[in-house]
Amino acid sequence: MNLENKIALVTGGGRGIGRGIVERFLEEGARVAIVQRSAVDQDLREDPRVMGVPADLANVSNFARIVERVARHWGGLDILVNNAGIMFERSVSEITEAEWNLMTATNLRAPLFLCQAALPHLRQRPGASIINIGSIEGIGANPDHTAYSATKAGLHGMTRALAVDLGADGIRCNAIAPGWIASDLSEAYLESFGDPGEARRSLNRLHPVGRVGQGADIGDVAVFLASDQSRFMTGETLVVDGGRTVKLPLPR
Ligand code: NDP
Repeated sequence: MNLENKIALVTGGGRGIGRGIVERFLEEGARVAIVQRSAVDQDLREDPRVMGVPADLANVSNFARIVERVARHWGGLDILVNNAGIMFERSVSEITEAEWNLMTATNLRAPLFLCQAALPHLRQRPGASIINIGSIEGIGANPDHTAYSATKAGLHGMTRALAVDLGADGIRCNAIAPGWIASDLSEAYLESFGDPGEARRSLNRLHPVGRVGQGADIGDVAVFLASDQSRFMTGETLVVDGGRTVKLPLPR
């Protein structure tokens, strides 16, 4: 197992992509703390290798308190995954300062200050790894996503800067830029089409691999980045999107 005896903190690990990461980490032998606003579900609660730490990362003023709780409980910290994030559509004409502040506080401020709080612990562990979950929207953009795209591009940039600053401490930092990963929200979106079946087929056709992603697709790459297998990689953003962003559109 690649993550035997490793301790990980995964933000937003209770559902969606974060859940995919948590489940793969557990399969690889890690113990995992999940930080999110809601309590973790029963399956996770009953697992002795999991601890839930409820916190609203957009409003936290003391990130050290979260990290200390995890490190005290498990006896250290090897891996930080900044996965929690929010996304909403707002046109440039409509977006308010409060909405911008919420997006940046959740998607950018929290990852940076969680890194800061985790540093004293990560510095003590050989092979420590930080993984930021960015997005292909840090590279391209969907309509009305100025704030979201800005935070994800920012997170990719922050990943490079952290890698430069933390290399001497033996801490690597990489990002994953997921493409379309199935979620409750994306399922509801597809169902809202007049012909959901055709919407699904047309979405699949955008992907050279012929399908959208699942949480485990990101979980597998996160295991790689968290483990010693990626020991010579830092500052990278890995696009994991089934080939969607490399497929050039043609008239049809
Ligand atoms: P979900 O909405 O399914 O899950 C988001 C997770 O983050 C939940 O566990 C949620 O828990 C937690 N979270 C949200 N806000 C906060 C907060 N203020 N404080 C603490 N925890 C919070 O999202 P996805 O799984 O789809 O996305 C996960 C990450 O992947 C995000 O960063 C997203 O931008 C990125 N991404 C997603 C893609 C996709 O197609 N799904 C594509 C590309 C990137 P709770 O609500 O209980 O706080």
